[in-house]
Amino acid sequence: MALQIFNTLSGRVEELKTLADKRIRMYSCGPTVYDYGHIGNFRTFVFVDLFRRFLRHSGYQLNHVMNITDVDDKIIRNSSAKGVGVREYAAKYEQAFFEDMEILSLEKPEEIARATEHIPEMASLIARLQKKDFAYKTEDGSYYFRIAKFPQYGKLSKKDMTAISDGARVDLDEYEKDNVRDFALWKSPKPGEAKWETEIGPGRPGWHIECSAMAMEYLGDTLDVHLGGEDLIFPHHENEIAQSEAATGKTFARYWMHVRFLLVEGQKMSKSLGNFYTPRDLILKGHKPSSIRYLLSSVPYQKQLNFTFDGLKQAANSVERLRNFKARLDTGRFPAGSNPEMETLAKATREKMRAALEDAMNTAQALAAVFDMVREANAAGDNGKLLRDDIPALQEALGDFDEVFAVLEDDDAQKSKQVLQWARAEGRLADAALAESNLSDAEVERLIEQRQHARKSRDFAKADAVRKQLADAGIILEDTKDGLRWKRK
Ligand code: AMP
Ligand code: ZN
Repeated sequence: MALQIFNTLSGRVEELKTLADKRIRMYSCGPTVYDYGHIGNFRTFVFVDLFRRFLRHSGYQLNHVMNITDVDDKIIRNSSAKGVGVREYAAKYEQAFFEDMEILSLEKPEEIARATEHIPEMASLIARLQKKDFAYKTEDGSYYFRIAKFPQYGKLSKKDMTAISDGARVDLDEYEKDNVRDFALWKSPKPGEAKWETEIGPGRPGWHIECSAMAMEYLGDTLDVHLGGEDLIFPHHENEIAQSEAATGKTFARYWMHVRFLLVEGQKMSKSLGNFYTPRDLILKGHKPSSIRYLLSSVPYQKQLNFTFDGLKQAANSVERLRNFKARLDTGRFPAGSNPEMETLAKATREKMRAALEDAMNTAQALAAVFDMVREANAAGDNGKLLRDDIPALQEALGDFDEVFAVLEDDDAQKSKQVLQWARAEGRLADAALAESNLSDAEVERLIEQRQHARKSRDFAKADAVRKQLADAGIILEDTKDGLRWKRK
């Protein structure tokens, strides 16, 4: 089979056919560096990483560009509230974003392009659009895109264009989702805002123009794949298409892939609901980076991922099982010989994982295949039926898995330590102290066992002491009909 993906543009699953054989030109929208990235952002970025890794594993040569939006309304607003310059402010969160990428084992794209370093390219794209009458200048020196002149507008988001009124404008970077209006390409200078002198006059770019200008700068007029979170379909990606295709007369991106928004405990993540988490928050609560990456990877990109603390705990167990299995293969002692069933199992698992990922990146199915292998090989091992010559084939299958999922290397402790150092340096001492008092999952389980044991032997003082120790570390015990369960506060 060949790689299939869901293409938002056509609205169906299609075979991915790149313009040049086994080379892929792709662009993914990167972060707006106005704050630390949250797990919703990283749901999308982790998916882009899985896709990259699978493409390479499938023999593609990658040319992947990701932008950094380092000037926009939010950055300007937040930096002036803090009384620091836009550049200094954005640089801090860009650095934090790169650290988070490393913490979650995200590969760096081949090209990372900052908006503020591509202002002339944006200005010249706007000049081109103006020449063709797709852009117009307003009295104050701003430029807008004339949507009425681009009849294909709406083809990605499937918006109804009948209600559009020529010349109605919006200049906010934070859009009303249903309002189709002429959008800002360039904003005239305002007091206290960053501005650039360019061939189209002074000012700063609107949000959308950077992605068109930078994608075409590095990848040419037509790209293979463009990715982002589903909130970007309208207006951001619709506008990217309009700006690029109006200028070149060519298709901008042939495939569009959008990651469904993540929910937290069944609800939209928001600061006001108190369910807003960054990867750093979770690590300071004692969760492992690999659990976060695994959980964010476990649901196919078109399906809604519901992030829960139970799920995070299960993810930790899953990673642990895989690592234990790897350790068993790497260091276990097995009788001489080979069991043909094991070789068949390894081969079938590799095929199943590939088939699952080729089927629109069905990560859930790929994980199911690897866990079937772990279960069967472990059972064979326990019955003396896993033999020395079987090991390389199983290791290879596990290696295939990790080339895409990247969770087997046990570097969680070191990464968590980095986050702890950051919390201290930022003066988040309460968070840091909490993190230090956090018990690992294994320690919690060990204490719970001690408490059960104490209760059975009627040593209630000891049982109470252990319970208090757990409570102090923020662990809540719940008696359920399936037995005792625990969670973190
Ligand atoms: P931003 O930094 O806001 O420009 O967003 C960076 C990326 O994260 C974009 O691709 C967004 O679509 C994506 N994103 C934001 N929130 C979520 C969410 N809750 N679930 C999935 N992706 C998200
Ligand atoms: Zn973009």
